[in-house]
Amino acid sequence: MSGASFPEIREAVARLCRDYPGEYWRACDRDGRYPREFVDALTKSGYLSVLIPEAYGGAGLPLAAACAVMEEIQRAGCNGAACHAQMYTMGTLLKHGSEAQKEKYLPKIASGALRLQAFGVTEPTSGTDTTRIRTRAVRDGDHYVVDGEKVFISRIEHSDLMILLVRTSPRDEAHRTHGMSVLLVDLREAVGKGLTIRPLRTMMNHSTTAISIENLRVPAENLIGVEGEGFRYIVDGMNAERILIAAECIGDARWFVAKSAQYAKERQVFGRPIGQNQGVQFPIARAHIQTESAAGMVARAAALFDAAEPCGSEANMAKLVASEASWFAADVCMQTHGGFGFTEEFDVERKFRETRLYQVAPISTNLILSHVATHALGLPKSF
Ligand SMILES: Cc1cc2nc3c(=O)[nH]c(=O)nc-3n(C[C@H](O)[C@H](O)[C@H](O)COP(=O)(O)OP(=O)(O)OC[C@H]3O[C@@H](n4cnc5c(N)ncnc54)[C@H](O)[C@@H]3O)c2cc1C
Repeated sequence: MSGASFPEIREAVARLCRDYPGEYWRACDRDGRYPREFVDALTKSGYLSVLIPEAYGGAGLPLAAACAVMEEIQRAGCNGAACHAQMYTMGTLLKHGSEAQKEKYLPKIASGALRLQAFGVTEPTSGTDTTRIRTRAVRDGDHYVVDGEKVFISRIEHSDLMILLVRTSPRDEAHRTHGMSVLLVDLREAVGKGLTIRPLRTMMNHSTTAISIENLRVPAENLIGVEGEGFRYIVDGMNAERILIAAECIGDARWFVAKSAQYAKERQVFGRPIGQNQGVQFPIARAHIQTESAAGMVARAAALFDAAEPCGSEANMAKLVASEASWFAADVCMQTHGGFGFTEEFDVERKFRETRLYQVAPISTNLILSHVATHALGLPKSF
């Protein structure tokens, strides 16, 4: 059922997750508390650094292995959103960082001594149109001076480093994606010295924040790659991000389907299990079919990524079908549980809130449809 790739990893992650049952996540959710113990355990186990090459202290495994990790976390009822960014954000540093930067940071990220959980792209005024970001960095000797605002910057309070997208030259309509750069911000130096964090309460426990940046000095040596080319580096990391999030959605969907089937077998109404009614069993069967079909698309996208083949459309399609499968399964699970689905103790309402995010972030469904329409089908661009 699990697709069975990397069975040892799946089994070990599932075992680790058993120490973090529903009560643990419910308490974190209720208190808006970061699941530090879970993230620490996952970091110590090495599963967060599977994508880091062995030369830098990681396991050097393919993206399909990272997908197995994230999928199993969600399938166990846990929430990988507390730490998933470390997997894909690291790719920007690995792919585009200098050798000196990689040697300085990657082994420490792999060992858990440093946390790279935050990335700052979204801004209040630019929305999905990343080329309109206003946060700018001006070179001043051997530093950049950064000013701007970012929103929905998740896990920054639980991270040592942040990948930050800034404008280093003004937007030019003819070359909209040029003139943006990526800085690696050391949050241990930055917070309180130009960078201010304001937590944002959201409908699920996601440790997200708004940040304001004023006169923040970032050493020029923390520029990743070439100045002005940052947009390309961020886009480069998006395929991995989308495929990993899609795998999380598959894990969520499998959790909802299993939970629904179990409850439908046990719950007796009118003197028989509710799952004996086709009105109850058909939606669960449909959710299962959608989930397993989407899992095939996720596996295909990951395989293309691991073979270093172009996979932009496949990564987007995987994210869309997987997030729609998990959302459909969430709704079915809620309906199957009747009134009990709304109570905290069943974990259904929590997972329902958590999985809804993936219709919007890290990329919304409409933007995926637009990508596939224009890139895969050659339809005219609308923006
Ligand atoms: C909980 C949470 C955590 C997040 N974490 C991070 C993070 O750590 N770092 C980070 O940088 N960002 C983060 N984000 C931001 C996330 O990536 C954005 O919310 C997402 O990309 C959508 O951007 P937006 O919210 O500005 O929506 P908008 O761009 O304002 O769009 C609003 C709606 O309009 C639709 N829309 C916009 N333009 C078009 C169009 N041309 N055609 C059709 N439809 C359109 C969109 O699909 C969307 O449904 C997070 C968001 C959330 C909610």
